[in-house]
Amino acid sequence: MRALVITGAGSARVEDVEVPVPGAGQVVVDVRRAGICGTDVELFTGQLAYFAQGKIGFPIRPGHEWCGVVSALGDGVDPGWLGARVTGDTMLGCGHCPRCAAGRGHVCADRREVGIVHWPGALAEKVLVRPLACTGCRMQSTTGPAPWSSRAATAGGPPPPLTPGRGSGSWSAGRAPSGC
Ligand SMILES: [Zn+2]
Ligand SMILES: [Zn+2]
Repeated sequence: MRALVITGAGSARVEDVEVPVPGAGQVVVDVRRAGICGTDVELFTGQLAYFAQGKIGFPIRPGHEWCGVVSALGDGVDPGWLGARVTGDTMLGCGHCPRCAAGRGHVCADRREVGIVHWPGALAEKVLVRPLACTGCRMQSTTGPAPWSSRAATAGGPPPPLTPGRGSGSWSAGRAPSGC
């Protein structure tokens, strides 16, 4: 598949890379839209503080603001995720430390960050994520009420099928992905 790769400060190109295969507890999302923000610019210029801190280095596959459709499931993932329209959180905690156990994986000391820290990003045809990281912000139709409650979302289960809208859908106010 095609993916944007930042190969060095001020240098990037589209490359053919391996299609992600979901491991246990993971899903693959076919990316429909991806944004470019200031963080991505600093990744491209090499000015993001993470470089100086030794957290990251080139090459980097960016893209942490995205939406898409779940197209493949790893072992143990509820089949209801297949076909779900999702976006997701950038911060992926280790899942094992006290902070993660307390639901604060976004500040896990051993976290990955989609498209930034040791996790391939979404400026690509597909992105690998965890379903639990998709629960914060799901795509919904602009033409009807939210098809699921935030309580259901935080429970970690897949969303129910969406009622088709007239438009292509967009983000609801106040539910943008965190991480920026
Ligand atoms: Zn952790
Ligand atoms: Zn951003």
